Amino acid sequence: RGHAASGRSLWPAVRITLENKTMIGCNIFRITAWAGSFSGAVSTFVVSIFPAAAAQAQAGDDSISMSFVWVEIFSALILLVSGIAIWFVARNQTTRIRELKREAEKLRDADFGEPLRVQPGELGELAAVFNDMRDKLKTTTISRDYVDSILSSMNDAIIVTASDGAIKRVNRATSHLLGYEERELLGTSIDRIFSPGKSGTLVDQKPSGIPREAFFESKLGESIPVSYTCSFLGGKEAESGDRIYAAQNITERRRAEKRIRYLARIDALTKIPNRMQFQHLLQRCIARARRSSRPLCLFYIDIDAFKEINDTFGHLAGDTTLETVAERLNMALPEDSIIGRLAGDEFAVILDGVGPDESGKKRTDVLAKLVLDRLADPFFVQGHEVFMTASMGIAYYPKDAPNVIDLIRNADAALYHAKKSGGNVYSYYEPVMNEAAVERLMTKSKLKRSFERDELLVHYQPKYNLETGEVFGAEALVRWELPERGLILPSDFIPIAEETNLIIEIGEWVLDKVCEDFRFWQRSVSSPGRVSVNLSLKQLRQPNFTRRISSILRSYEVSPTSLELEITETTLMENPERTIKLLDQLYALGLHLAIDDFGTGYSSLSALQQFPISTLKIDKSFVRHVSTNPDDATIVSTIVQMGRNLNMDVVAEGVESEDQLAFLQRLGCTYVQGLLFGDPMSSDNYLELLLAQAEGTDTHRALFA
Ligand code: C2E
Ligand code: MG
Ligand code: MG
Repeated sequence: RGHAASGRSLWPAVRITLENKTMIGCNIFRITAWAGSFSGAVSTFVVSIFPAAAAQAQAGDDSISMSFVWVEIFSALILLVSGIAIWFVARNQTTRIRELKREAEKLRDADFGEPLRVQPGELGELAAVFNDMRDKLKTTTISRDYVDSILSSMNDAIIVTASDGAIKRVNRATSHLLGYEERELLGTSIDRIFSPGKSGTLVDQKPSGIPREAFFESKLGESIPVSYTCSFLGGKEAESGDRIYAAQNITERRRAEKRIRYLARIDALTKIPNRMQFQHLLQRCIARARRSSRPLCLFYIDIDAFKEINDTFGHLAGDTTLETVAERLNMALPEDSIIGRLAGDEFAVILDGVGPDESGKKRTDVLAKLVLDRLADPFFVQGHEVFMTASMGIAYYPKDAPNVIDLIRNADAALYHAKKSGGNVYSYYEPVMNEAAVERLMTKSKLKRSFERDELLVHYQPKYNLETGEVFGAEALVRWELPERGLILPSDFIPIAEETNLIIEIGEWVLDKVCEDFRFWQRSVSSPGRVSVNLSLKQLRQPNFTRRISSILRSYEVSPTSLELEITETTLMENPERTIKLLDQLYALGLHLAIDDFGTGYSSLSALQQFPISTLKIDKSFVRHVSTNPDDATIVSTIVQMGRNLNMDVVAEGVESEDQLAFLQRLGCTYVQGLLFGDPMSSDNYLELLLAQAEGTDTHRALFA
């Protein structure tokens, strides 16, 4: 009763409060009001199903009405609680949906943030799927960004086009190279940036991945030489046919090459062709003369007692003398004659169209006298009057010799004759002068027998890693041991062997011997290094050359990767298309390929790039004065730089002094070989060197410290 009384007194209080809407918000008021009417209905329902209670109620019994009030309060409370619960649930859902929306917006802006909390329920599942999507998107975006940053940090200009040549994408280097904004290029044809007139259009070219050269045109109309490759995007011709071009600006390289070629061909002191260039020009003149059945005349000039001028007045005076000789020859001779400096104080002249007939001889006499007279004019060096005379040998093509080598040699023989007659005279070549020619014939027949007599041998010249001083391998050099003459060097018999097909037999014998030695070394040392073998053009031209090499390697069980083939620049460029195919086969076998005597030929490095070559060997003529002659230093450092840019190893040959070694070390050249480390050695001595290295008792290493 007490409870009931207090309950009754509470209800109106609650109602009043509700009505005043002071304590709880209006929503709750509505819910409660609704609950009130609901509880009214409930009481009506209770009355209807419990007639006794109804009767009691109607009887106005106090306790019954109290019960109704309690039922009402209870129901209202239940409803209030469920209302609040519904409100909380609804608020929670809305918050989670908002959170999802917020995260989706962040994702749109590539802000990956933290993964969402995964709660039970359907929204929780949605959040899990969302997190999954976020992770995947993150991975692809990161890899895309990664690719983007690679592309934009690349120095090569990268251009992606559709199969019709329309540009789809370019990197920053492309804009930088051409001066166009990326958006100016997108959608336009790649041919728009291609300087026409060279080799058709870029679009027509089939992607091959092989480096080619072309000119690109910048926005300002500038022609830029580039080396580029074009491949299908995604390897072989993919469905899309999209292509990727990677281009490098080679302006600097071209300039450097031009300078190398100039320095390599022109004598730095007298500014006239050097020996190499002179021989090249003579070769061309002979070819032309042969075609037009015209003669040529060659003067071979040597200053008398030049050594005395040098010794008396010093090297500077010697240099001035040589410059004076070049100037005077230029002045005395007809304009179309070609003048070159063959060596120290030796000069030569080509007179085109001058022959040994009567009028030709007269003209030769006049010019020869004029030259000797002019050269004999005294001149001043450092205040001293210098008297100089010269001697001259003269030979005609084709009367005296049919080729460059023999023509020069015969003119030299005539010069020798002139010198022997006391100097300041000229002599015409006559066959008796040339005892060497006789010797040559004898050598040829002896060389043929050298195999039967077992007179050939191979010496090895080690190549050292410039950084560590370790032996990296060796070059195999053939020698001929003639009982009556001792050891003959290749320069004295390889040219003769080249004239006949003997060089093929010699070459094959050397390969065989090298493999045999290699197998022998392998019994004592695990890795005898990489051995390089010189190849002649005639060997390369054999139809079954690749098969022959691989059969030799197989018979000795020597891995092709242990061998390197050295091919001179001139040999490579003899028939480039045929040679590329052959070298590709050799490369596929696993053999390494090197360009020998680099710098002495006439090819451009870009042309050499098409060959699968991994090593450049700088010719010893450049290395010889590398630490004293700035021109040679420039040539060598440019070659080393170029090699490095092209990912090639660079070997400097002919290293004779520690100064040269130190210079090459500073340049970052990769390997060296030369007499500084001793003469080329026998197979046994090379093995000893390898063993000493393995034990750490090798002595040469101090040189590299
Ligand atoms: P190469 O391939 O350029 O070989 C390097 C030549 O330079 C070798 O002369 C070597 O002894 C010499 N040399 C090495 N270090 C120095 C040095 O510090 N100073 C000087 N002045 N010379 C040095 P070599 O052995 O007389 O060979 C001359 C050329 O003969 C070789 O030039 C190569 O073209 C050719 N040759 C040698 N062996 C073979 C062979 O088996 N087959 C063919 N086809 N040619 C060969
Ligand atoms: Mg060589
Ligand atoms: Mg060489």
